[in-house]
Amino acid sequence: MSTTEQRVAIVTGAARGIGAATAVRLAAEGRAVAVLDLDEAACAETVEKITGAGGRALAVGADVSDSDQVAAAVARVTEELGAPVILVNNAGVLRDNLLFKMSDSDWDTVVAVHLRGAFLMARACQKHMVDAGFGRIVNLSSSSALGNRGQANYAAVKAGLQGFTKTLAIELGKFGVTANAVAPGFIATDMTAATAARVGMEFEDFKAAAATQIPVQRVGEPADVANAIAFFTADAAGFVSGQVLYVAGGPLN
Ligand code: NAP
Repeated sequence: MSTTEQRVAIVTGAARGIGAATAVRLAAEGRAVAVLDLDEAACAETVEKITGAGGRALAVGADVSDSDQVAAAVARVTEELGAPVILVNNAGVLRDNLLFKMSDSDWDTVVAVHLRGAFLMARACQKHMVDAGFGRIVNLSSSSALGNRGQANYAAVKAGLQGFTKTLAIELGKFGVTANAVAPGFIATDMTAATAARVGMEFEDFKAAAATQIPVQRVGEPADVANAIAFFTADAAGFVSGQVLYVAGGPLN
């Protein structure tokens, strides 16, 4: 595929963690990748990994929960990299607390970044996908969608993203656009390291304790999730849509 035919992907929250691994993986699959995160400068490392390996990438700073910033970011990607036809809604935050201690802002922030963010990004990108007659949307859900103590806000949005995903699959299928969700279990990133710190555990001990509860006896790595996203975004995956894939080292109910 020549540079002009190269499909363009946007990965949100791609400065680090699962998003960074996904951006690098999609570039290895031949995609041009917009590495989007709150702070444009923080995207440099991911961009350098891609360009250093001969790929095309662009750092984009934007808050996915802000409609104007999302519109500007998608316009810039279209101008500088090409029309985005692959979208990975990965940007995320935690504001964990038991319900009786959860503040209005703990709730609103999590809803804004995960749900409103995925909605704004998908709405801004869908026109390019419809015009191309091809699109791939992957939303990051979580095993927490099944319920998790201290995460009423996060569990609600991660379950909500599953309904959002299925609805996009129904609405956009006739335009060649698929929508799927990847729902990771425990993945070793700054997010889970922050959870370890919050409960007063060393990260290594926290991971070891988690691994004993996982059938494959290890925690996940960002590349484990990137692999699943690479499958859903592949050109050949056009008949797989509206699915939720748990990437958790074992079955979840
Ligand atoms: P992470 O290491 O905390 O990375 C999240 C990234 O999202 C950060 O770079 C962060 O930027 C960015 N971000 C936050 N708010 C944003 C906003 N409003 N606009 C744009 N970017 C924003 O998280 P991760 O562990 O890789 O998780 C990635 C996704 O997977 C999340 O949706 C998470 O909920 C989901 N997930 C993770 C796990 C896990 O075990 N790690 C399990 C299930 C699901 P800043 O650094 O500037 O805040």
